[in-house]
Amino acid sequence: MLDVGCAPLTSVPALAHQRCLNHEFREAVARCPECRQFFCRECITEHEDRVICAACLKRLARPAARRRFHWTGVLIFGECLAGVLTVWLFFYIAGRSLLAIPDSFHEGTVWKSKFIDEP
Ligand SMILES: [Zn+2]
Ligand SMILES: [Zn+2]
Repeated sequence: MLDVGCAPLTSVPALAHQRCLNHEFREAVARCPECRQFFCRECITEHEDRVICAACLKRLARPAARRRFHWTGVLIFGECLAGVLTVWLFFYIAGRSLLAIPDSFHEGTVWKSKFIDEP
């Protein structure tokens, strides 16, 4: 009658109380979003900003490798485009920063005039 308040504490399992699927005695640190299993630090790996288990990583890596065969040309083209864009951006910024510098700076009159024109 009075112990109703204690029920939710035991019915909701916290991550800290979970054990790794592969290591019975190790505390789980993360849950794989693919297979919904709990894993320890050693069994979980980061993949494309997600933490997934080694088994799921293998499963996900295989179709990706097969797909890469078809998209190799597109990937190379994309990489070339990214490279060209990077180089263009570099020269664009360099050009802009050079334009931002006043012409008098290149002639060396900015700092020369200060000393020469002094009375
Ligand atoms: Zn998994
Ligand atoms: Zn483990």
